[in-house]
Amino acid sequence: MKKTTDKVIMSFDQGTTSSRTIIFDHEGNILSQAQKEFPQYYPQPGWVEHDPEEIWNSQYETARDALSLSGLSATEVVAIGITNQRETIVVWDKQTGKAVTRAVVWQCRRSTGICEELVANGLETEFRNRTGLRLDPYFSGTKLSWLFRNNSALRDRAEKGEILVGTIDSWLLWKLTGQHRTDITNASRTLLFNITDERWDPVLCSILGIPIHILPEVKQSSDDYGTTLSGLFDCSIPITGVAGDQQAALFGHGCFNPGTAKNTYGTGCFTLMNTGNHPVWSSNNLLTTVAWKIRGKTTYALEGSVFIAGAVIQWLRDELHMIQTSAESEQLALSVPDSAGVFLVPAFVGLGAPYWDPDVRGSLFGLTRGIGSAHIVRAALESIAYQSEDLLAAMCADSGTCLESLKADGGATANAFLMQFQANISAIPVSLPEVVEITALGAAYLAGLHCGYWDNLDEISRKWKEKKRFEPSMDKEERVYRMKAWHKAVCSAKEFKV
Ligand code: ADP
Repeated sequence: MKKTTDKVIMSFDQGTTSSRTIIFDHEGNILSQAQKEFPQYYPQPGWVEHDPEEIWNSQYETARDALSLSGLSATEVVAIGITNQRETIVVWDKQTGKAVTRAVVWQCRRSTGICEELVANGLETEFRNRTGLRLDPYFSGTKLSWLFRNNSALRDRAEKGEILVGTIDSWLLWKLTGQHRTDITNASRTLLFNITDERWDPVLCSILGIPIHILPEVKQSSDDYGTTLSGLFDCSIPITGVAGDQQAALFGHGCFNPGTAKNTYGTGCFTLMNTGNHPVWSSNNLLTTVAWKIRGKTTYALEGSVFIAGAVIQWLRDELHMIQTSAESEQLALSVPDSAGVFLVPAFVGLGAPYWDPDVRGSLFGLTRGIGSAHIVRAALESIAYQSEDLLAAMCADSGTCLESLKADGGATANAFLMQFQANISAIPVSLPEVVEITALGAAYLAGLHCGYWDNLDEISRKWKEKKRFEPSMDKEERVYRMKAWHKAVCSAKEFKV
């Protein structure tokens, strides 16, 4: 018989545009992976929907493909871990098990009016104190309210307990096991979950008109979620780890100690800092969220996001045609000694934390006759680091701790200029992991911990291998001067509203 350590963990990474399955071995190496995109639906401006059945089918197909690519059978999979796009909400029929509406995606802004109404009724602090979140359409609760307000038949069925709701993890768990469950990190993104009491909050559910009995049972991130239904794979596989994508990335980076942080550089940036076993309520407009719950212990995080990060590079490529590929931005930025006083505030869709200004728009400052595309490209890359530094500074102020280093992942970490500039402007080392699929790895770790595949966090910490490290090399005077100039640019951009 094979030793357990010769077996593998299968990780489901259900993202916004594609579903992926990655198979990891005991060392955390990738043995095989499969990916499938699925359609996005935009029924109205600002609305985004997914078909839950298409999500499930794409996830299931990639699981089968990854298994067949690895040449392994289901019996060699010790456990499944799940990580997923957060906040997206699914409603399904308890009897038939089929989705009754399209999923309302995290990006969907349809519940803006409901959020404004709640703020006008003075409820922002109530929600913030219980959930750590803001009243923004981003989170699931007001999306669900919108569905019930606009479909009274659905609302009646909810009252009667004929339908069930959940985030994407919950939907996949339902399809995989027939059980109605969710994990605590996903629950903490709904505006319905009290992160201190660790239960669905009856007051908030009542304000939002959500019957509490349609919500899933909340489990730890590393826990027994049941086994796969017969017929899905050649044998039943236990599911023992679940976390939202950003929390899974924090875990995959091994940020287990308070004061450790990661930044994911994708289309936007997502920064999370571990704050230990007590929630830290932000005085700097960050979110407070559950990082994970393992073996009865809850760990919390501060979170902030930059809406436009890698997307500014796509804009330079697709709209301004200054570069042909994202990668070219690096050579072009390095072709000039500095941005020559140019600052780009890429507030194309407003600014997120710590500014939270939905009405500010993108602005370019400091132009002279001698400014060329290289300076603008350089300023664009620098803006990603400035925005991230704003979040890191807010986190340090809120938590009272200084970061020792920043773990980084995501597509734009391929840009060495950006990584070096981040190290310089934040005055901390930035390190990149050997395994780029850190989110899926985090879910695998959570699953493997529960089933004894890995013993404890120490063992997992030792597996984190650094691929590259960028040491800070900018003197303090210059750093302070640049951040001051950046803040001036942000303030000026906020002023310009016509
Ligand atoms: P997401 O998961 O949000 O789709 P990815 O992690 O795949 O994002 O990263 C893609 C983003 O990274 C794009 O916005 C792209 O412009 C940016 N990007 C990719 N490579 C580079 C590079 N070498 N320099 C700067 N940005 C890059």
